[in-house]
Amino acid sequence: MPKIEFENVSKIYDEDTVALDDVSFTIPEGEFVILLGPSGAGKSTMLRVLNGLTQPSEGTVTIGGDEIKGNRSDVGMVFQEHYLLESKTAFGNALSGALSRNGLLRSALGLHSEYDKKNALEALQTVGLLEEAGQRAESMSGGQKQRVGIARALVQEPGILLADEPVASLDPKAARDVMRYLKKAADKQDLTTVTSLHQVNIAREFGDRFLGIRDGEVIFDGDADDLTMER
Ligand code: ADP
Ligand code: ADP
Repeated sequence: MPKIEFENVSKIYDEDTVALDDVSFTIPEGEFVILLGPSGAGKSTMLRVLNGLTQPSEGTVTIGGDEIKGNRSDVGMVFQEHYLLESKTAFGNALSGALSRNGLLRSALGLHSEYDKKNALEALQTVGLLEEAGQRAESMSGGQKQRVGIARALVQEPGILLADEPVASLDPKAARDVMRYLKKAADKQDLTTVTSLHQVNIAREFGDRFLGIRDGEVIFDGDADDLTMER
């Protein structure tokens, strides 16, 4: 059974905006997929449909055979804007990923289990920030903040990790760094991962498979070799 399945999915925001146009594909468990395409192609919409933030207008999206209904705690998300709490430490931000498992009240009261704390430290180690655990987010670089964002998603213990343009606001070196840690985290925890990017040269170094998106349609589906031949 494929981990993720899009079956004839369309998303029509209004009559002039068809963000996804009859899209079908499947992603097997553990694959690291990169969505490539220009701004406005429909990449964010695809990711938002996957984490239940948006409903498709037509078609079905399933995760492990179950149709998506609403927000799912087994889908972790990394954003272009990191959405960290700036005055909290890297550790505190990573720990907040446990919120969706523990419920709001426990988290608001700061009732974190030893299990969560151990997980947060492990996640920081995975993204190479164990020594920075006590640093406040506001004092960290853009790349480090994105890595904390990845750690926070890992603490949620998802089966699927989605990243929407996670390196778009970073310089090429920091962008590669973040992608390297994202890939490492995905491999380590055997996550099915879908990341949107617009830099083909960076994407090529990390993806198992590439979906090219344009005007709401999948116009390319292949591996790094196919991608090279395309260019
Ligand atoms: P990408 O992530 O590839 O930049 P998006 O999925 O954000 O693409 O956008 C696809 C299309 O849908 C664009 O034309 C965009 O303007 C439109 N769109 C995205 N979100 C909304 C929304 N909430 N309401 C109306 N139109 C939207
Ligand atoms: P706050 O702003 O509420 O103090 P922090 O982000 O500083 O939040 O930390 C959240 C929790 O994590 C606190 O209980 C703090 O004591 C603990 N903590 C912070 N840094 C570390 C660390 N490096 N190792 C273990 N626990 C830590």
